[in-house]
Amino acid sequence: MSDEQAHFETLAIRTQTPISAEREHSVPLYLTSSFRFDDAEHARALFTEEIAGNIYSRYANPNTDEFVRKLCLLEGGDDGIATSSGMSAVFTAIASRVSSGDHVLASRALFGSTHQIFTRILPKWGVASDYADASDPSSWERLVRPSTRLIFIETPSNPGLELLDLRWLGEFAAARGIPLVVDNCFATPYLQRPLALGANVVIHSATKYIDGQGRALGGAIVGDASYIADCRFFARHTGPAMSAFNAWLLSKSLETLAVRMDRHCSNALALAQHFEGHPALSAVRYPFLPSHPQHDLARAQMSQGGGIVVLEVKGGLDAGRQFLDAVQMVSHSANLGDTRTIVTHPASTTHSKLTPAERAAVGITDGLIRVSVGLEHAADIIADLEQALTRVDAQR
Ligand SMILES: *Cc1c(COP(=O)(O)O)cnc(C)c1O
Repeated sequence: MSDEQAHFETLAIRTQTPISAEREHSVPLYLTSSFRFDDAEHARALFTEEIAGNIYSRYANPNTDEFVRKLCLLEGGDDGIATSSGMSAVFTAIASRVSSGDHVLASRALFGSTHQIFTRILPKWGVASDYADASDPSSWERLVRPSTRLIFIETPSNPGLELLDLRWLGEFAAARGIPLVVDNCFATPYLQRPLALGANVVIHSATKYIDGQGRALGGAIVGDASYIADCRFFARHTGPAMSAFNAWLLSKSLETLAVRMDRHCSNALALAQHFEGHPALSAVRYPFLPSHPQHDLARAQMSQGGGIVVLEVKGGLDAGRQFLDAVQMVSHSANLGDTRTIVTHPASTTHSKLTPAERAAVGITDGLIRVSVGLEHAADIIADLEQALTRVDAQR
């Protein structure tokens, strides 16, 4: 069976490092910093890249190769690299392509550390950026410059679950010859394939759904060969390499991504439907609820709604904090995409330094609770959140 014919689940399981002389069934862990050269000529040819092969694990390793090759097949990318975390993937994808005087255009609703790169780190090197609004297509037209080197977006956004139209932005970027880079962390390639809709590069925090079990950090960049060539040069010499152990773990995790995502999505939809209209909540946001303002777009570019549900607790900041203290089984933690359901309250934690107006601009209200719906039984997750809401009510 060729890679073009095989389905997602099959590619995720059957893409493997070639079997060694030991005839193992499950891929071994290649804990080695370097690899031997056959002779002087072999070493010379490897270093000049006349031939492909292993040299040193900062460049590549059989475990990272397997992880990357698999992710390229799942996303439909020509080439890719693995990085030590999602943020090293974000930084490499941007820093490898910009010079002093350049400009980057991004969507306003971004992961917190990505926002710090744009506002605190890139300006030190003379790279400017602007944020366009998801809800206003004319803002992209207005803010794009001749010096814009890339467009960087997240869809759905963290934590507001705002969507961007990938087909529209893909055409907008292509018409201007600007690469479109998409952080596909929330959807994963199982629910959304940005490269097929017009993006040039996809970024992942593999820490989230790709690991899916809350164990390891990792990141990846996949997409057009010429873009990845720049990322590879940058990463090879600056060193954000993924460890062989994490690559081995994350490649194994990809084997079960499809079945895990199906359950994350069905649990999340059940939870969103259950809580919609709840008297203690002012809103429930989920891309596959008909009440989501971009429900049609969600149906057009995602196969399911994902594993994140947003609940807006009535009573603002205090109510949000009371809710967190009232959950029992559900975890209060900073990760997402775990088997365990996790709640976070951005207004009092990750986004507490913003003013209420700044938070509102990225869709974060004071009572907003982000629920990363896990793989426990849906009824048990719902029961815990129900009892927590009752206790918020009682305290007000
Ligand atoms: C977590 C996250 C990142 C950063 O990934 P790390 O693996 O924590 O470095 C980037 N983008 C999004 C959307 C995320 O949720």
